[in-house]
Amino acid sequence: MARKIERIVWHTAAHGRDGQAFDTTAAQIDQWHRERGWSEIGYNVVIRFDGTIEKGRDPRKIPAGVLGINETTYHICFSGHGDIAPLTPQQMESGIQHTIEMLHKYGLTERFLNEPDGLIVMGHREVNELVRRGLAPTPTTKTCPGRLVDIDQVRLMIRQRLTRPPAPTYEYDSQAAGELFQGLKQVYAAASKLKLPEEAMRFLNQFRKQPEVDAVIARGRQEQEP
Ligand SMILES: [Zn+2]
Repeated sequence: MARKIERIVWHTAAHGRDGQAFDTTAAQIDQWHRERGWSEIGYNVVIRFDGTIEKGRDPRKIPAGVLGINETTYHICFSGHGDIAPLTPQQMESGIQHTIEMLHKYGLTERFLNEPDGLIVMGHREVNELVRRGLAPTPTTKTCPGRLVDIDQVRLMIRQRLTRPPAPTYEYDSQAAGELFQGLKQVYAAASKLKLPEEAMRFLNQFRKQPEVDAVIARGRQEQEP
């Protein structure tokens, strides 16, 4: 039976010494966790300094990230030490993107947006807040993902990404806009002569409905009208 994931949790590898944070690998963490007697790495992914995502425990299995709520959580660990150095910009970008993907994958996006204090995305340290609310059994002394990582700020950035309309990603050119419109008309006409299956046409319709394509064609037609 598939487990139901309710929260995405951020961690730090807490790997550093003498004021220097290390670019921990998933293989290293896997080794540490096996040395503790666990079956394998407890986290689902590890995000390196350059933003690379390394796979950890298969998320279909129950992870080992936060005592007492593992069955309902997904765990992202960042290489380095969040008490010594903040996440690198690449880690932050990759972490936000991956978190958004997981919110979508596990059907949590609406809840994340509707419940700003719901801790749907949280730092390991915030399990103490869940304990206060009676939603988790065991408090922690961990600072995950580290004192230098502002989780409220992370949640805000994710919220902005999810709600901000995308900026246009094209350069308008009236001749090209006309060509795009005429070209699509030709493709539709040809497809209809060929009696292509609806399934095939769906992809073309999807392309036609992309906000950018729609905007370009609308503007092109407007300009061509006398
Ligand atoms: Zn942690």
